[in-house]
Amino acid sequence: MGLYEKDSRGDYYTWSNKQPSGTIYSRIDRVIGNLNKHQQNIDTTLCILEPGISDHALLCFKGPELCDSRRKQFKCRQLAVSLQGWDNMLQQGKFNSKKVCIELKNHSPEVSWKSIFFNNFARPHAKFTLWMACHNNLATKERLHRFSLIDNDICCFCSEQESLSHLFFKCSSLASVWRYVLQWIHCDHQPQRWNEEINWVIKCSKEKGHKVIILKAAFTETVYEL
Ligand SMILES: [Zn+2]
Repeated sequence: MGLYEKDSRGDYYTWSNKQPSGTIYSRIDRVIGNLNKHQQNIDTTLCILEPGISDHALLCFKGPELCDSRRKQFKCRQLAVSLQGWDNMLQQGKFNSKKVCIELKNHSPEVSWKSIFFNNFARPHAKFTLWMACHNNLATKERLHRFSLIDNDICCFCSEQESLSHLFFKCSSLASVWRYVLQWIHCDHQPQRWNEEINWVIKCSKEKGHKVIILKAAFTETVYEL
C-alpha cells in the first residue's frame, strides 16, 4: 500500500495493561503515512512521551526548533562560559557549584508563583503537577483534543469543556472537593477560578505560620489529585 511507519524517539512500547503481576507491554500506537506525508514532515520528530494518561503513552510531534538538542546544549554551554569567574575556575581546576548556581538563578525569569513552592511539603510529583499547571501545560482534555489525541474534550463530571480553568475550579463537582479540603484545614475561603485562586494562594504564601504551610501543601496535593 506504500505506507511507512515514522521513526520515533523514546520508549519502544506505548501500551501496558498496568498489572502488578503478568504485565503486558505492546507497541500499539504508531504514526503511519505515505511517502509524500513523510517528506512533508521530514523536519519533525515523533516522540513517545512518558506513560501517564490512561494506559497509553502519548505520541507527540516536535518541530525542528524543539527537537534540536544540540542547540539547547550549545545554549547551556554559552551560559556556563559567560559566567563571571568561569575562566578562573577552569585555571584553578576547582568547580564552585554555589557560585554557578547563584549565577544561573540570575538568568532565570522571576515568576509570581515561586512563593507557593518555597517550603512546600507536598510530594514531589504533586509539586511537579502544580508547576505544569502554573505553566498552563497540563494535559487537559481541551489541549489533548486540540492536538487530535482524543475524541472529545468533555469534562468527566459535567457536560462542559475540560480546560485548566474548568478543572480549577469552575467545575462544581471539583470545586466542592477543594471546598471540603479548605474546610478540613479550617480555611475560610470560597473556591474561585484558576487565576483568582492561584493569586489568592500566592498572596497567602507570602505570609508566615504553620497555616500557610498546610494551605500550600493542601492546594498542591488537591491540584495533583484532581
Ligand atoms: Zn466539569
